[in-house]
Amino acid sequence: MNAELELGLERRIGKRSAAVIEKHLGITTVGGLLDYFPRRYLSRGELTPISEVPLDEEVTLIARVVSNSTRPMRARRGSLTDVVISDDAGAGTSARPPGARLPGTLKVSFFNGFRARAELQPGRRAMFSGKVTRYGGSLGLTNPDFLLLDEDPDAPGMDPEKLAAMPIPVYPATAKLTSWSIQKVISTLLDTIELDTLGDPLPAAIVAREKFLPVAQAYRLIHAPQTPADWQRARDRFRYQEALVLQSALARRRAQLAAEEATARRPLTGGLLASFDRQLPFTLTAGQSAVGKTLAAELAQDSPMNRLLQGDVGSGKTIVALRAMLQVVDAGGQAALLAPTEVLAAQHFESIRRTLGPLSRDGMLGGFGPDAVQVTLLTGSLPAAARKQAMLDAASGTAGIVIGTHALLSENVSFYDLGLIVVDEQHRFGVEQRDVLRSKATKPPHLLVMTATPIPRTVAMTVFGDLETSVLDELPAGRAPISTHVVGLAEHPAWATRIWTRSREEIDAGHQVYVVCPKIGTDDDGDFSPGEAEPSAADLEGENGSRELASVTGVVEYLRDEPALAGVPVAPLHGRQDPALKSGTMASFTANETKLLVSTTVIEVGVDVHNATLMVILDADRFGISQLHQLRGRVGRGGLPGTCLLVTTLEPGHPSRRRLDAVAATTDGFELSQEDLKLRREGDILGASQSGGRSTLKLLRVLEHEDLIARARQDAQQIVAADPSLAGHPGLAAAIDDYLNPEKEAFLERG
Ligand code: ADP
Ligand code: MG
Repeated sequence: MNAELELGLERRIGKRSAAVIEKHLGITTVGGLLDYFPRRYLSRGELTPISEVPLDEEVTLIARVVSNSTRPMRARRGSLTDVVISDDAGAGTSARPPGARLPGTLKVSFFNGFRARAELQPGRRAMFSGKVTRYGGSLGLTNPDFLLLDEDPDAPGMDPEKLAAMPIPVYPATAKLTSWSIQKVISTLLDTIELDTLGDPLPAAIVAREKFLPVAQAYRLIHAPQTPADWQRARDRFRYQEALVLQSALARRRAQLAAEEATARRPLTGGLLASFDRQLPFTLTAGQSAVGKTLAAELAQDSPMNRLLQGDVGSGKTIVALRAMLQVVDAGGQAALLAPTEVLAAQHFESIRRTLGPLSRDGMLGGFGPDAVQVTLLTGSLPAAARKQAMLDAASGTAGIVIGTHALLSENVSFYDLGLIVVDEQHRFGVEQRDVLRSKATKPPHLLVMTATPIPRTVAMTVFGDLETSVLDELPAGRAPISTHVVGLAEHPAWATRIWTRSREEIDAGHQVYVVCPKIGTDDDGDFSPGEAEPSAADLEGENGSRELASVTGVVEYLRDEPALAGVPVAPLHGRQDPALKSGTMASFTANETKLLVSTTVIEVGVDVHNATLMVILDADRFGISQLHQLRGRVGRGGLPGTCLLVTTLEPGHPSRRRLDAVAATTDGFELSQEDLKLRREGDILGASQSGGRSTLKLLRVLEHEDLIARARQDAQQIVAADPSLAGHPGLAAAIDDYLNPEKEAFLERG
């Protein structure tokens, strides 16, 4: 613990300032205020480009006063002072119509602005703080706070050239507390605390290797730089420090998890897994075998496996998971598979039983032995009696593999000996829920998390930093490629009917078709599952509100009269249907009775019907990049080439059309996911588990600072391996404790 950092602010900056800081910034300790870093820096000698100032948020800018005039208010008492300020961008522009506003100017109005009237004389430079708003055609700033720069008391008698180069820190300010008031308080703090006694969270060897500033100097320079190079060096150091603290926390968490005691589930010679491997109709890909070996070895350990398996859509994750489950069953334990939706759970149940063939035993004829395993489906929509039986089977151990949705998490579900939890499609599944399931085993179970959304390495290292990662980076051989086309109805209206004749051709060839719509009915808001991270096109661009979008019920009705599809069995599927209806529809589609399925994104993940070869996505511009990628992964799965048509009524060149073009241009899920992440905010990437939905990372950007995060991770791994308790690194240990406030601790626990 670093006593100085823990100290209450009032002890160093006085009661009044401390109260102000607590009220406006919520900061109460010395360490908290020291770590309140500037968001950016203005150059004292340069004016802020006014055209780049964002509207409607608190901003701090430097400008030159052009004019100052005061007049009495018309309707009430008092006066109005109008000050025009400029960034000099329009200086020298002579040919302009009389009365036109100069480019790069801003009108600043003060009510009863006596100080503004007196001080903001033409030619003076000042820093302004407030919200820039637009009224009429022009930009304005009303009653801002300001600080005359020429009289800045901070730098008396400084060489003018040096002074001009001196950066001014800009702190995240509030309407009531300007950036320069914050700066002043922090400057007092820097003068009163014993900076040089601070322990350094970074090991000396790393500081030397990276040529980082010592911590005390870094604090001084990030808050009070003399030159731009000063704050850049300070920021580099703190950014790395942030990465190291986070990665050390994760490394320690990994070490702690590894130290927990789990039941070893050793492979059994001549067991179910061996029989299963013998009857597999295909050979595993190299990746599947390699990951399989890793999992087999980790399950055989008496410390819990905690692994993330990433693999693009169709890369064959389910087989990998199933083989792990069989190893656990062979060793006498149970395995649970958690799916994000009922449809997917039912699909998994069907396809796993099909894949197991004679090795799967269901029904009441109890027990699992060396020759077969009972696979049980447990979802909320089961009829009460079946649900009760499924729960009994889970609790008694009769069920070797239990497949379900979050219904598995309900309190009255228990297991006899839960050895492995597999979570499918992680991005739809809350982290807390995984934890509840973990708690269902007496000893920590082994955990395998699977995700089809390729996660950039650094995000994986940060968000899933306490899980080891495996990647399936190839698709099974013989997988037919999916060709994707953008169907632009704006420029080719005739294609609207061509879609249905194309579908008919596919069906006549014996295949099946998915049609995906963004909405369920003609007057609802769609079928997006709650908590879905995917931004819709509307979220991204705020457009399209008025157009009638394709809906499941609307399209089913329309297709009834579509001549090209006469006599074709068509069925609707969406999340608002009765679960029994849903599973009946899926079963009929799987059995190739229904030829054309009109659905919402309920089929987005995991659904596996080999005979489906064409997917038509209507109003495709309403979906996000990775959602489209997931969706099209439903076709081309059975060795038959797949086709995906992205239908849109948007004009070519529309931003959302470019997203469709990106999806059509590549089938590389990783590339697409990078593209997608660029469109999202950092907080979305890190997930809601970050406190308050706001990224807690200060200087670190997970997409930008990949090398740095990788380096920090490696350093952290070494530090923790050599010194698990961090006894030799008190500064780092303290920084971790500080970082892991209870909320953040929970985030890591859940990671
Ligand atoms: P995903 O990773 O998207 O969950 P799945 O596990 O559903 O992929 O596998 C997609 C399809 O590929 C399934 O039908 C599965 O049976 C098949 N498959 C898996 N592994 C192989 C393989 N090695 N060779 C051929 N087909 C495979
Ligand atoms: Mg899957």
